[in-house]
Amino acid sequence: MKKIKKGTIEVICGPMFSGKTEELIRRLVRAQIAKKNVSIFKNAVDNRYSDEYVVSHNQNKIKCQPIKDSKEIFDHSKEIDIVGIDETQFFDLSIIDVCNKLANNGKRVIVAGLDRDYKSIPFESMAYLLAHAEKITKLSSICMICGGYAYFSQRLTDDKSQILVGESEEYEARCRKCFKP
Ligand code: ZN
Repeated sequence: MKKIKKGTIEVICGPMFSGKTEELIRRLVRAQIAKKNVSIFKNAVDNRYSDEYVVSHNQNKIKCQPIKDSKEIFDHSKEIDIVGIDETQFFDLSIIDVCNKLANNGKRVIVAGLDRDYKSIPFESMAYLLAHAEKITKLSSICMICGGYAYFSQRLTDDKSQILVGESEEYEARCRKCFKP
């Protein structure tokens, strides 16, 4: 009997500082241990820490491919079983079609990213991917005001652009009650 490869889309979402990259790396490292061919992609817009590695806040890292256009993933994933994508909210809407095609071709696609921006407005590409996904993991952070579970990313500066690559000086995690849009 021919072995049929079943593709899927998994989404790991949540606010800043919720461990999304950490969870993505955890799943990919486990797949590597299981002798799967794994490849990780991230948008070249995110130049924090390192160009050739996906690095989590607690400094775990895994080698990755920075790309400018999501369609480049097709060129680099021919022999790959599992495709990981980090900071998925930085890609435009063509990432939705790319992920569906990869999954339809039998690949396990794991995407990590912010579900909402600092105004609590959903990132459109992530909203669609959440609808297309077989498996969704929503992570929480800890509210820096009250210590409760946080699902919001509070921006601490006056910058109004939707994409601001930042660290703990620019953002903190907040719960619904403590979040100030
Ligand atoms: Zn709070």
